[in-house]
Amino acid sequence: MRWFARIYAIGRFADRRAFAVLLIGVVTVAALATAVRSESNGPSWAASQGGAGRIPESAVSAAARPVSVAPTAGEGRASRTAIDLAGEASCDPTAVDRIRAGGTTESTMERIRESPRRFCWSLRPVLAESNDLLRLVDRDHGLEPDYVPPGLVALAEAHPEIPLRTGNERLTARAAGALADMVLAAEQDGIELMVSSAYRDYETQRQLHEYWIERLGRTMAEALSAPAGHSQHQLGTTVDFAPVGRRFSETPQAEWLEQHAWRYGFSLSYPEGYETTTGYNYEPWHYRYVGFAASYLEREFFSSVQHKMLTFLYANSRDRRLAAFRFSRGGPR
Ligand SMILES: [Zn+2]
Repeated sequence: MRWFARIYAIGRFADRRAFAVLLIGVVTVAALATAVRSESNGPSWAASQGGAGRIPESAVSAAARPVSVAPTAGEGRASRTAIDLAGEASCDPTAVDRIRAGGTTESTMERIRESPRRFCWSLRPVLAESNDLLRLVDRDHGLEPDYVPPGLVALAEAHPEIPLRTGNERLTARAAGALADMVLAAEQDGIELMVSSAYRDYETQRQLHEYWIERLGRTMAEALSAPAGHSQHQLGTTVDFAPVGRRFSETPQAEWLEQHAWRYGFSLSYPEGYETTTGYNYEPWHYRYVGFAASYLEREFFSSVQHKMLTFLYANSRDRRLAAFRFSRGGPR
């Protein structure tokens, strides 16, 4: 009977080893399958999450969290929450050396090199945004004459609580919603934000630009008015607050916006002292909605200069050789 017991014990031991080998094999195959899947479905997954271009609430709250809890790339890959665009390797903190400066300054690059993890963590929800929301529109980069942003709404109908100069102003539904939130918050602080101008189509901008050229001459008109196709107003996400003009900078509205607009995803497009960077004179009344994720990134890494951030994103997303990060859906147009 002892023989039987010994053989039985060896048999059980052999089974255990075989089982362990089998288990390791299964785990390896599963891990490989997961890796292959995440490589191949990156853009489509990001696109499905991007959808209407709205930042998921979880991404917003994640971005507002302190730095110490920023997920590692590995954690991002495993849990697939909104901020897990990292899971698609869209920003690799170990590869930031390959990022191109692209129109931004050395101080920004230094900040990125100092905290690459925090940079990637701030960038990831931005990469989930629709390309139109972060499209670079300046003197060198224009919109097509027939470009009309999707989902325009009349502010008077969609948000009657927003004070309007003419009553005909329109914005995209998302920008309009964020504006309504911001207007109400300002009101609680005793500040009335009135919209002077919002969406302008190509033809309206062409006429406006002609008007200024006739009135002021080409040189002055070019400094304060954008040629058709080169105005952020054609994006349907940009607002001029009343009263338009240099005196706006002395109003309590200007001060309030400077402090709080970023919290609602709005960003000052043409700040003072950056005329050569932006190509436009200081316009304290002109705000573009870029979404909270981007306004946060802009503030943290781009000295609150929108143009620096947009040219940076543009430069990097167009570089096909860059492995550090990329836009979903093939980059902005
Ligand atoms: Zn404007």
